[in-house]
Amino acid sequence: MADVLAFGEHSGGEVASITADLAAAGRGLGGEVAVALLGDELSGLAEQAAAMGADRVYTVEHPLLAGESADAITSALEQVCRRVRPRVLLVGKTAIGRDVGPRVAFRLGVGAAQDSVAVEGGESGRVVATRPVYGGSAMARVTFGAGDPQVVMMRPGAVEPAAGGGGSEVEAIEVELDESVRRVRHVETVRQETGRMPLDGAPVVVAGGRGLGGPEPFAMVEELAGLLGGAVGASRAACDAGWVDHSYQVGLTGATIRPDLYVTVGISGASQHMAGCSGSKHIVAIDKDADANIFKEASFGVVGDWSKVLPSFMEAVRDLVRS
Ligand code: FAD
Repeated sequence: MADVLAFGEHSGGEVASITADLAAAGRGLGGEVAVALLGDELSGLAEQAAAMGADRVYTVEHPLLAGESADAITSALEQVCRRVRPRVLLVGKTAIGRDVGPRVAFRLGVGAAQDSVAVEGGESGRVVATRPVYGGSAMARVTFGAGDPQVVMMRPGAVEPAAGGGGSEVEAIEVELDESVRRVRHVETVRQETGRMPLDGAPVVVAGGRGLGGPEPFAMVEELAGLLGGAVGASRAACDAGWVDHSYQVGLTGATIRPDLYVTVGISGASQHMAGCSGSKHIVAIDKDADANIFKEASFGVVGDWSKVLPSFMEAVRDLVRS
C-alpha cells in the first residue's frame, strides 16, 4: 500500500518531466511516494522514475498499453489503484492525464480536484488542493469527503521537480485488459517540428506582450532569447493578436514555467499571466508604465519604451556573452 501514487508519463523511452513534478508534490504530503508506469515496453524507465524521487515504482506492461490509449490506461490505472490502495492519486493535467484522471476517479467512486497548482496535507488525512478560479483572479482551496484515493490533477510546472536517490523498489503488476476496453483507437501521432526551444524546462524565457505593438519586434525578443540560451514566450494578448501562435503563451490558459530568469517586454503582468510564471526565480520586466503589475513581482525592472531599452539591453548582453 502506497501513501501517494503518481501516474508516471513517458514517451520515446523517456519519463516525462510531469512525473518529477508529481513525485515532488507527493513528497510534500509525507509517506511513501510511488510512481505507476504503464506501457507496452518499459525497459530503463523505472530507474528514471526512481531518479525523479519515487520510493517505489510499479510497472504495468501490456501490449494494449502501447501509444496513448486512454481507455486501456484508464482500465489499467484503475486496477493498479484497487491493488495498491493509495491514499492520494496524483495525475498531471496533460493531454493524457486530463483524459485518464477523472475517468479513474469516477470508476473508483471518489472525488477529483482538477487543475491544481499545489497540494498539502490536511486534517484526518484529507488533502487540500489549491486551484485557480474565476479566470485566475482567485485561488480556491478544496478538500475531499470520505473515500480514497483522493485524486488530484496537477498542472505541469506548478511544483519544483524532485530529485531522488534512485534506490526505489520496483514491482511489476499484472492487469487484465482485452480489446473490448478500447473504444477509441489511437491512429497516429504527428509531431510539430517548431525548431525552437520548448518553454517547458527552459532555463531562461524571454516573452513579449501587447506592448510590442505588432509581430515584427518578436524578432528582437527571439534574438535576446538566443543570446541568453533561452526560449521565447508571449502573453495571451500577443497570441490572440496573431503575432505568434498559442504554443508561445505563458499563463493560466498557456504554459506554466519556472525558469531561472524570465524577461518580459511590454507585458502588464495580469493575474492570469502571472499564474503561469510566478514560480520563476528572477523576473526582469521592461514596461513603460511604472504602475504595471509586473513590477510588483519583478526582481529587476526598467521603466521605459522597449524600442529604446531593448537595443541597449541586448548590446550589454552581447558584451557579456563575448567576454
Ligand atoms: P496588456 O495588459 O495590454 O499590457 C501591455 C503592456 O505593455 C502595458 O503594461 C503597457 O504599459 C506596456 N507597453 C505598451 N507600449 C509599450 C512600449 N512601447 N514599451 C514598453 N512597454 C509598453 N493572459 C496571458 O498572458 N496568459 C494566459 O494564459 C491568460 N489566460 C487568461 C484566461 C482567462 C480566463 C482570462 C479572462 C484572461 C486570460 N489572460 C491571459 C489575459 C490577461 O487577463 C491579460 O489580458 C493579458 O495577459 C494582457 O496581455 P499583455 O500584458 O500583453 O497586454
